[in-house]
Formats: sequence, C-alpha cells, structure tokens
Amino acid sequence: MSIVVIGSANADLVIEVDRRPAGGETLIGSDLVITPGGKGANQAVAAGLLGADVAFVGCVGADGNGDLLRRSLESAGVRTAGMATADRPTGCALIVVTPDGENSIVVSPGANGRVTPDLMAEHEAEWSRAFIVVMQHEVPLETVTYMAAQCRERGVRFVLNAAPAADVPGDVLAACDPLVVNETEAALVVGVPADAAEPAELGRQLLDRGARSVVITLGAQGSLAVLPDGTVVTHPAERVTAVDTTGAGDAFVGAMAAALASGQNIEHALALGTRVAAVAVQRRGAQASYPRRDEL
Ligand code: ATP
Repeated sequence: MSIVVIGSANADLVIEVDRRPAGGETLIGSDLVITPGGKGANQAVAAGLLGADVAFVGCVGADGNGDLLRRSLESAGVRTAGMATADRPTGCALIVVTPDGENSIVVSPGANGRVTPDLMAEHEAEWSRAFIVVMQHEVPLETVTYMAAQCRERGVRFVLNAAPAADVPGDVLAACDPLVVNETEAALVVGVPADAAEPAELGRQLLDRGARSVVITLGAQGSLAVLPDGTVVTHPAERVTAVDTTGAGDAFVGAMAAALASGQNIEHALALGTRVAAVAVQRRGAQASYPRRDEL
C-alpha cells in the first residue's frame, strides 16, 4: 500500500566552527558540507529505503540544490513526479555546529512556500489513491489543513508529524492517526509548559482533544503510543552510542509510515521506527544516515 509524503525539501548547508559568532563578528569555519534534508524529504527517503512504495509531493527551485534533493529521493526509490519546480530557490537550512555538537540553524523556506492547496489540487492523482499521507509543519499550515480535510473525506489515513513545534488546529487534530510529536511539541499542542505533565498524560490529552491516535518520541528514552481506545504502549530506545541525532525523528516517522503501509499496527510501527532511528543516530547526516531494509 502506498505512502505519499507531502512536505519540505531543504539543502542542509553545514559548517563546523569553534564557537558561535557574536553579532557583527566573522569567524572562519570548516569546509562547507551540503547534504539533502528537510523533514518531508527525509521521511520519504527513510520509508523508501525500507522498500515501501513512496511518492514525494513538494517543491524545489530550478537550482543545484533542487537537483541534489531529487537525486537523493530517487536513489531511495521515491517517486518524484509530484515534485514541482518553482521560481524561488530550493529551501535551505544554514547550520553552524560547535564542538559540543550543538547546532544553530536558520531555515529559508524558499520553494517550500509554494507547497500550497493549489499545488495539492494539481497533484490530486498522486495522493488521492494513497493508503497514507504523511505531513509535517515545514510547509504552509493552510496546506496541512486542506490535506487533513481531504484525507478525512476520502478515507485516506493521515499522519501528521507536528514539527517544528506549532499549534495544531482542532479539525487537523481530528484527522491525525497518529499525530507524531516529541515531548516539547506535545506540550505546545496541549497548551501547557514543557515538563508540566508526564508524556503519557500529554498523549491522553491529545486523544481527548480529538486525535485518533498519538505517538510521542522521547529521544534516548524511546517512545510511546496512545491507541484509539486510550491504551498506552511504550517502547524503549535501543542503547547505542549516538554520534549525530540529526534527522532521527524523521527516520522514526518514515519507518513508522512504512510499517503502517505494510499493514502493521502502531505497536509494530513503533518497533520499526525505533530500530531505524537507532541506526540513524550512529551515523552522521540526516538522509545519509538512514539504513536500507537489508541493513537492519
Ligand atoms: P530530531 O528533531 O532531532 O530529529 P525528535 O525530537 O523529532 O528528533 P527524538 O524523540 O529525539 O525525535 O528521537 C526520535 C526517536 O529516535 C526516539 O524515539 C528514539 O527511538 C530514537 N533516538 C533518538 N535519540 C536516540 C539515542 N540517543 N539513542 C537511541 N535512540 C535514539
């Protein structure tokens, strides 16, 4: 059964520096490394590498970064017929990494801003036959709202990874099966300060507010799911030495979607997400760190 990931595609421009520059200061850093990223493209690649039938619907610019994204998706087996080219630059994340592993990131959405309801209508043939549509918050909210309504109407399973953290309107929440969030994002959607409630309690509250099911990722602590009947299922993370957690959340979401599309339930989807994310954190990069099915 097929997965359509609708979302962002960004070039990650990474420079390592000894420390963050102060205002008005110029620092010399390492060689520039440009890698394919963006939450939508990452999740599509993660699912594609696992052998799932995946199409990506998004937008890049007519530039080298757009070509980089297209190549990365296609080499993971992801169909890109629904990828438009806009007269704006490909989305880009300027990432400065300090020796403690901490990142400072500025994102320029560029062509991702063209992932509009109009573009969705143009590519209706691509997503209307999907088993699952997966979205995130790096494209305009009106597009998420539009697709949530379309999926509800047509009986297409809608998975929203509400990242980066932003509020989720009630009608969107009601379509999510599951809503996938980390702890910070969960607290923001519930509307309480971070750490104000236990993750399972946040999950139950999200279910009360209308989500059909909820998955909360907890970094090295693992993840939990709140099933439609309110049952809470937890899954520990694997004990591994993490070298780079960039894109771990996206690896988890892409792998979950692959499991759900192959007919597995949410518990099994958590297990596959955990396995794939554990491999991803032990390698550098986002898409470059994701395993193929035969590596698991
Ligand atoms: P990011 O934004 O960095 O991609 P996220 O906040 O969306 O991440 P996390 O909760 O940090 O997502 O991680 C997702 C999943 O990846 C976790 O549920 C866990 O299974 C796995 N994971 C993350 N960090 C580690 C780690 N240090 N060791 C093992 N597994 C990890």
